[in-house]
Amino acid sequence: MSSTGEQTPFKIVVVGGGIGGLAVAHALERAKAEGRVDPLEVKVYEKRSDESSFQRYPIHIAPDGRSALSALLSPSELDDLRQRSSHGITHGGIVLHTPQFSSLFSIRRYEGETPQFVHRWVLKGVVEQGVDLCRDKRVVRVREVDDGGKIEVVFDDATHEQADLVIGADGLGSTLRAQLYPEYARFDILPYIVVQSKLSTPHASLPLLDPQGINMALGYKGYSLLLVPFSGEPLPPYPGPDDSNSPFSDPEEIRHSDITTIQKALDGPTPEYVFANITVPAFAGWEDLTETAWIEHITRLLRSDNAHSGLIRAFEGDVIPGTVGAWQIVSCGERRVPYGACGGRVVLIGDAAHAMPPQGGVGGSTALKDAENLAATIPDPCSDFYPPSTEK
Ligand SMILES: Cc1cc2nc3c(=O)[nH]c(=O)nc-3n(C[C@H](O)[C@H](O)[C@H](O)COP(=O)(O)OP(=O)(O)OC[C@H]3O[C@@H](n4cnc5c(N)ncnc54)[C@H](O)[C@@H]3O)c2cc1C
Repeated sequence: MSSTGEQTPFKIVVVGGGIGGLAVAHALERAKAEGRVDPLEVKVYEKRSDESSFQRYPIHIAPDGRSALSALLSPSELDDLRQRSSHGITHGGIVLHTPQFSSLFSIRRYEGETPQFVHRWVLKGVVEQGVDLCRDKRVVRVREVDDGGKIEVVFDDATHEQADLVIGADGLGSTLRAQLYPEYARFDILPYIVVQSKLSTPHASLPLLDPQGINMALGYKGYSLLLVPFSGEPLPPYPGPDDSNSPFSDPEEIRHSDITTIQKALDGPTPEYVFANITVPAFAGWEDLTETAWIEHITRLLRSDNAHSGLIRAFEGDVIPGTVGAWQIVSCGERRVPYGACGGRVVLIGDAAHAMPPQGGVGGSTALKDAENLAATIPDPCSDFYPPSTEK
């Protein structure tokens, strides 16, 4: 605070203009505009000069992400995003289970809510509004400045900038995490194999929380499993690129969508079956595995994880011959810095703080939730941080 009574703005530097970084900056700019915070200056630095490397299909926004967006965005911004997003998979639902099979969430329950699927550039375009974003600026490290408790952010062009608070939103390969928490320097990018098959198991003997939806289990041993029971009723066609409700703008995007994968699995002579999609960590020689070897591999994994006995029995005895297929994807392992490890004047959010497993599409939503929670802890940045509360 200056001697004239005028407050020196509290300076926040956000490292990384991804979903989390832009969202927290956006929320703080809104709070500023609405006079909800003391003078604040927020600057976002992004190493990339453009967004050309975006994936082409829409990302899934989980319920947590939707609730974060309603807090982060103004009603008109949220409306804009909703109009440019699409609804969920209306013929199913996603139920995320813990390994103990307790439900985490279900899309079916949220059917009709939006946004559920949105193109990454649309989401980023909305949260980027009002944000002071500087591109082509790579942060190489942060350091404490001796007097005044400031943090200096150093860029690769040898320039630097001081801040009262630095928010590390620099993603999976976070430079700031590597510097501040060397023991968590690497969140490995890991190859996974997606194995798809059909099971002839009666639906009732499987641990399905949603007997008509998509059920997901996250195992302890690094795998995740989707089970979708089908009863022969036809699947409503998913909107193609010519449909005005379609989230896809060209046929290539449809080809790469999970929805299409599920629809393809429906083609075939079996009127009632369970579609199973399991993602396992990759291993040498997976390309050469026969159908029988895959079934053995999956059942071994389920057994070693003490999975539900009905599930093990289904994979041991009910895989419909000729329906097993496997392909490789690249994602990250599940890892995070310990809770409380990033307090102080540098805070990590999003993928920089916690890596997410490949199934479920929850990484971006978690980054949004982090942004909401962090923005709520800055009601009065010139005093100490508060835990989120309804009053502050
Ligand atoms: C193929 C794929 C599909 C996915 N699908 C979904 C989905 O459907 N739903 C979902 O919720 N999540 C999904 N995710 C996960 C989601 O993309 C991430 O969890 C989310 O982007 C994390 O946001 P973030 O802001 O933490 O990091 P990011 O979005 O990775 O942003 C980090 C930003 O920091 C910048 N940066 C990095 N280092 C520096 C530096 N030193 N200086 C300056 N800038 C830097 C990067 O260029 C980047 O723009 C998917 C991920 C992948 C790879």
